[in-house]
Amino acid sequence: MKRDDEESLQRGAKLLLEGATLGMEHCPQCKMPIYILRDKTLYCATCDVKLVKEEDLKKKDNDEKVRADNKKPTKRKTASPIQAKIDQLAKQLEEETDPEKMVELAETIKKLENIRDS
Ligand SMILES: [Zn+2]
Repeated sequence: MKRDDEESLQRGAKLLLEGATLGMEHCPQCKMPIYILRDKTLYCATCDVKLVKEEDLKKKDNDEKVRADNKKPTKRKTASPIQAKIDQLAKQLEEETDPEKMVELAETIKKLENIRDS
């Protein structure tokens, strides 16, 4: 066995101990099985090089898809500050005895309702 082979085997054995696995693919240069490191990097122990793989590109595509899905339009809040004000004024109107102020309150409520519904 050549010394180079021995070194690459030792590198490979060390990788496996560190949690790497042997991949299904083979190195385009030396045709030896490629190791998959724990961070999903493809690595050829024989050539001692890391390889760029297609899955990285696919993963990026998926990330962008997820981001696109998050762009859903936000629902209109039902409990708006305007609605809270309308409720408050409605209560005031119930207790109001001054006709002028009653009209004033009623008009304000109507205006607020128009804003709320617009
Ligand atoms: Zn190789």
